[in-house]
Amino acid sequence: MMESSNPHAGRLSIPFLQDTATYSVALSGTELPACRRAEGALRAHDRRAHRAPRPVPRIPGAFTPMGYPDAMTRRSWFLLLAALALLPLSVLPGQPAPQRPYVVLVSLDGFRYDYAERYHANELLALGKAGAAAEGMIPSFPTVTFPNHISIVTGQYPEHHGIVLNSFYDPARKESYSSRQSALDGSWYRYKPLWVVAEEQKVKAASMFWPTADAEIGGVRPSYWLKYDGTFPNQQRVAKVLEWLRMPENERPHFITLYFSDVDSAGHSFGPESPETAQAVARVDKLVGDLWAGIRAIPLPVNVIVVSDHGMQAVEGFVNLSDYADLSKVRVVTEGPVALIYAPDPPTAEQVYASLKGKSGKFDVYRRRETPKPWHFSASERIGDLVVCAHVATTLVATTPARPPSKGNHGFDPREFKTMQGIFYAAGPNVQPGVVLQPFENVNVFPFIARILGLESPPGLDGDASVLASAYRK
Ligand SMILES: [Zn+2]
Repeated sequence: MMESSNPHAGRLSIPFLQDTATYSVALSGTELPACRRAEGALRAHDRRAHRAPRPVPRIPGAFTPMGYPDAMTRRSWFLLLAALALLPLSVLPGQPAPQRPYVVLVSLDGFRYDYAERYHANELLALGKAGAAAEGMIPSFPTVTFPNHISIVTGQYPEHHGIVLNSFYDPARKESYSSRQSALDGSWYRYKPLWVVAEEQKVKAASMFWPTADAEIGGVRPSYWLKYDGTFPNQQRVAKVLEWLRMPENERPHFITLYFSDVDSAGHSFGPESPETAQAVARVDKLVGDLWAGIRAIPLPVNVIVVSDHGMQAVEGFVNLSDYADLSKVRVVTEGPVALIYAPDPPTAEQVYASLKGKSGKFDVYRRRETPKPWHFSASERIGDLVVCAHVATTLVATTPARPPSKGNHGFDPREFKTMQGIFYAAGPNVQPGVVLQPFENVNVFPFIARILGLESPPGLDGDASVLASAYRK
């Protein structure tokens, strides 16, 4: 891990990913390690390899390997040949040992399943044609940024990894989490994301941004990482990834994340069917093209996987839940079409439930243990006592908002709103070319990447390696 000061260090207010507010973080970061020492060592190695061979005494009946540095006796030749016969073919001299592949995982936040076709994202479509493309990727519920980025890199539903909304209350800690203020505090994270799983298995990882990749999780960070800075230029993010892949082999990361927020921001501000969103798609499509071209120029087995956390729905107006229920005794966290309600005691929870249940066609309310099965959204206490979810394209609030809600939003049930589906495109030496996948749940990305990288998965995954088996190439 290389931590040092960053010339861009400072404190900024950054629009992170969404949503109705900003994500404020202290900016500092990392510098890549200077490679001079390693390059020097490499040159010394070259000198040794190229020095003149010592004369080898001739042994009748044995061949003399030209250039082999050390003299050998007849007995040692016999032992060497016997040992070679026992070696598997793959490690015989002259044949390179099998190389561990590389994976660059790219997130295009808020990139809806149909944007590539609709807005002619030709680089992305070409990547999918060269490898595998899904007709959609189904986000976990609720379909918002932090829970889904974490589901992608943990293979777990939010009820299991514990980041149940971008903001939530933890009754055990008696504290609130906010992706804007708490993201760097690793004590909130009990999961093992891919970069931690890799590092624990002595495989280097790097993050050019990904939600919570700048926090220390279980005492582990990626070997190379930067604190999130929404103003860090996109082109430089691509350059940094390529720089990492060009590092000397013993320093080079095998798993790299890369993140772009443009499409989500445009979708919120202008709506999914706006020229501004089309322009944002074109911008990130070019970045994907630059990345893919840069990777193809590097003679390494690198796989590129491009995903998104969720889609985007055009929304209108809002529903104020306090018009239906007395919310003065409960804690309410609202985010787009979802509200989590935390009550001080069971009777209060039941009172609010009764006030909301069946009172509007625009939303439904569920006790935590009775949420729809496909949501997988009941096992964590952080979810609260009641979950409210909009059935129509609107925003839920608990108090009248100071300004009108955004034109686009997400968070809806992905089975009711196909617009919540995201993307999955992948290409590279370990991706079967020409594969078209039916929409699948994003918890299945983790075992696919773990398989490519040869990593052992931790127990308790919700994802299943068999879902993406047809896209895997050995
Ligand atoms: Zn968003």
